[in-house]
Amino acid sequence: METNFIEKQLSQSVQQESELRWEYMNGIIEYDDYLNQSFITQRSISEIRKYKHKQENANAKKLEILKEKIQGCNKCEISHTCLNAVVGEGNPDAKVVIVGEAPGKVEDKQGNPFKGKSGAKLNEALHRIEMKRSDVFITNVVKCRPSDNRDPKPEEIKNCGFYLMKQLAIIKPQIIITLGRFSTEYILQIKKPISSVRGQLHHIIINGENTYVLPIYHPAVTIYDRSKEDVFFDDFEFVKELII
Ligand code: SF4
Repeated sequence: METNFIEKQLSQSVQQESELRWEYMNGIIEYDDYLNQSFITQRSISEIRKYKHKQENANAKKLEILKEKIQGCNKCEISHTCLNAVVGEGNPDAKVVIVGEAPGKVEDKQGNPFKGKSGAKLNEALHRIEMKRSDVFITNVVKCRPSDNRDPKPEEIKNCGFYLMKQLAIIKPQIIITLGRFSTEYILQIKKPISSVRGQLHHIIINGENTYVLPIYHPAVTIYDRSKEDVFFDDFEFVKELII
């Protein structure tokens, strides 16, 4: 009788554990929530760690292959004048992807997105919502710097938007923050002023995956128009509420 009781308890734990494992692998619960359950065995923890490691590396590898492709791309004239194709950086499994417009002078020189004053403003916004650059993935809709800081041309956005969509399909973020007009128009396929869509959540599907898009002012706007700064930071606060 007692043996039956113990067997029943064990079988319940195994079932609970397998249900929980399924939930973790399908993104329903977080890794830490999985580990915090008292009935999880050491063997299972070690298996799930290996799985997590493999998953993370899978995205990192795919992004690395794509990066090489982008760095060798010469679809647009600007590939001959830029110093570096600024592909993007951050967490390959990020819940939040931030998409700006195109690299500026500093970014072109360093090869990383959002450096200089705009980068500092973005870092501050992330800090306010207790996030770091390494938590998110940061990129631009156009990877090569348009000469003389001009706006990207429609054909450059179209050519390079292809790579952006590939990056998003690999990362599968919960939320895409589009900073400024160009990334917002491209991802949402709309023609509206950023002031009329900022702070509003939009739903899109990328490669069959549901994703939300939150347009926000480009941080450069808050530098030359200080009256937009509060709105910019408030919109980032919204991101905090959205992340599951
Ligand atoms: S902007 Fe994009 S599409 Fe155009 S050359 Fe550079 S990497 Fe290629």
